[in-house]
Amino acid sequence: EISRPADVEDARLFLPIVTEEQPIMEAIMLNPVVVICGETGSGKTTQVPQFLYEAGFGTPGSDNPGMIGVTQPRRVAAMSMASRVAHELSLTSSKVSYQIRYDATVSPQTSIKFMTDGVLLRELANDFLLNKYSVIVIDEAHERSINTDILIGVLSRIINLREERWRAKEAGAKPLRLIIMSATLRVSDFAENKTLFPKPPPVISVGARQHPVTIHFSRRTSPDYVKEAVKKAAKIHSRLPPGGILIFLTGQNEITGVVKKLEARFGEKSLHARRQKRAQAALNARMRREGEEEDETKSANPSQVALEVEDIDFGATRGDENIANDVDDGMLEDDPEALDTEGEEEEDALNEALGLEESDAPMHIVPLYSLLPSDRQMKVFEPPPPGHRLVVVSTNVAETSLTIPNIRYVIDCGRVKERKYDTTNGVQSFQITWTSKASASQRAGRAGRTGPGHCYRLYSSALFENHFEQFSEPEILRTPIEGIVLQMKSMHIDTVINFPFPTPPDRLALRKAERTLVHLGALSLDAASSVGGMVGNAKITDLGRAMALFPLAPRFARMLVSGQQHGCLPYVITVVSALSVGDPFLFEEAINEKSDEEDEEDDDEMVTEKEAKRAKRKAYFTSQHLHSSLGKHISDVFKSLSVVGAYEYTGGGAKFCAEHFVRLKAMEEIHKLRAQVGNIVRVNFPASDPKTDTKLPPPSEFQLKVLRQLLAASFVDQVAVRKDRIGADGQSKGVQFANAKGVPYRAAGILEDVFIHPSSVLIDLSPPEFVMFHELVRTSRPYMKGVTVVNPA
Ligand code: ADP
Ligand code: MG
Repeated sequence: EISRPADVEDARLFLPIVTEEQPIMEAIMLNPVVVICGETGSGKTTQVPQFLYEAGFGTPGSDNPGMIGVTQPRRVAAMSMASRVAHELSLTSSKVSYQIRYDATVSPQTSIKFMTDGVLLRELANDFLLNKYSVIVIDEAHERSINTDILIGVLSRIINLREERWRAKEAGAKPLRLIIMSATLRVSDFAENKTLFPKPPPVISVGARQHPVTIHFSRRTSPDYVKEAVKKAAKIHSRLPPGGILIFLTGQNEITGVVKKLEARFGEKSLHARRQKRAQAALNARMRREGEEEDETKSANPSQVALEVEDIDFGATRGDENIANDVDDGMLEDDPEALDTEGEEEEDALNEALGLEESDAPMHIVPLYSLLPSDRQMKVFEPPPPGHRLVVVSTNVAETSLTIPNIRYVIDCGRVKERKYDTTNGVQSFQITWTSKASASQRAGRAGRTGPGHCYRLYSSALFENHFEQFSEPEILRTPIEGIVLQMKSMHIDTVINFPFPTPPDRLALRKAERTLVHLGALSLDAASSVGGMVGNAKITDLGRAMALFPLAPRFARMLVSGQQHGCLPYVITVVSALSVGDPFLFEEAINEKSDEEDEEDDDEMVTEKEAKRAKRKAYFTSQHLHSSLGKHISDVFKSLSVVGAYEYTGGGAKFCAEHFVRLKAMEEIHKLRAQVGNIVRVNFPASDPKTDTKLPPPSEFQLKVLRQLLAASFVDQVAVRKDRIGADGQSKGVQFANAKGVPYRAAGILEDVFIHPSSVLIDLSPPEFVMFHELVRTSRPYMKGVTVVNPA
């Protein structure tokens, strides 16, 4: 009864995994756990769920009526793969569905359910045996996302429990199967880990139908890889035959910058201007014999590119500087020029052989990063308009999760933006570091899906050999894990230290997580376990159990559980939703962004543009001011509360976001999370009224006070005191500061000075003595974000 569209049937014949259907299904039927390795694009994600479905999994009345569950580390992959598989099987989205944190298409009829790994992890809290499922496919296991790692650990135990029940012939009991899929062959952490699977699971490798990809290293590693990427794309576009270009960069800021620049030079609209410009360039070249150089100096350096909120967080600029240093340290002396030159020569030879002229075809440029609205993310799958060359500018989401059709050229910046977490003091930073050799090879592979391809690496082969790790570090080693520890405790995994992690987290990190949870009242130490400050088997409290119901960081869950008095709950829900999603405000720089072409405009236009900009700046400050003064309290948290309140009150929308300088996607996510949290409250605390379905009046002064107390209880260990006031006797007034810029604070447990982030509402005020903060993020300095004044005068 399976019917697939004809074009899908044809395309399937070319997927390497389809010829392996029989051995794969045989292994699955004979083993509780199977590992499948296969190159990206070999058909794992789209086909394995179909094999299972065809074999009766997920079909009521069969031997395996439970759903087929497939997890993905990324939301966009969960959504797009569900829709692709539904299409391939000619089924509806209620039959092949997805569920992500904010959205779901699941129905009682769902047979195949794609979800993020976080969603499945949360389901464990309500149904530890996952009785709804007959098989779980953990996809992208090579990415080693923290949720995936934990799921594999938990599932290794659930499989045994389900099997025991089935053998004991308990009513309705069925075994659960587990399939772990990876795009790399490095699966020993799963397959050969005896604590995880005492009987090693079979590993099935799917051959790749991969075309050769020629790797071209750069002769030198330029620190300005963003500029290099634009240059390379321009070169490929004008000299090489048709075929999509996929550019790997590290984040939204870089991506939007490159998209803009390419759009200006090669987009449809610029076609005419481009012809003229080229004529001009030719003229210049003749006159100065430096045509190309001249053109290059015009491209902006990354610091001029529009700054967006995400990048402020991530400190991209700082990261770039670091990399520049690394590069200079490492590559200059031992760079085997010969090899690199070879690459470049090859490229030139290729161009000559093909004898290609500069092309006049426009580019069709599509960005791809996680903060992009979902419908725009899906655009990468649409074919470009006829005669256009597809150019996708992406983060590493396109590395293995999504296979973009018809890519022939890959430009790899060689870097990735990663969260780093200092387990000793909780300081987070987002650093741009070299990616791994494994990632580099995945990226290159994207060029060889439809035919022979080329990968241009914007770094030297010496750097690659000497500075790239073989594999990336699992996320569990560089993330705060208190939420995970609380989840595990609520699943009765008391001794987290003995849990079968594929890679066990740092013991210090575990201890810190438990300590935080004890502070919050979620765990309690009995006498035996607290000897000598040793934690490890603290027990979950009733408060902790209630906190574990929420898909939120434990600090926020704590506020929800204890914030039900005085009609404060609706505001608490709003605050934790906003803090969980992240700062929705655009930062000042984003408002002042300069466009590249500005220099070329004539005077009249410049004046009007300047006026428009001035007006915009004024509107920006008015709106900032409006939301910065909720009651008498000075707090970044209340600023978010204010704007979300206004958004909900007015009904929101894109116009609201433009007027208030907030990101639409963030506001929508906060809106959805509010509703979701409201529902959880309604179900679990029937006596309370979350009011998430009605308009929210501004909170009273008294309610704001209660809110601040709740914040303080959740952030007891995240307070800082102004450094010059430490040990002050209360008589002396101390130093007078005009504003908080650069004023050092000391925070508990942190050995260096910390500072108020420039985006804070406190930054232009006289710095208060005590503050509490939501998080510490290191960019050029350790900055406190989400700051609230403690005890205002
Ligand atoms: P893997 O999981 O092994 O990386 P996939 O199952 O994701 O491979 O992809 C198999 C093939 O299906 C790819 O070559 C790709 O061309 C095609 N494909 C996947 N998703 C889509 C989509 N949304 N639109 C068109 N083709 C797609
Ligand atoms: Mg896949």
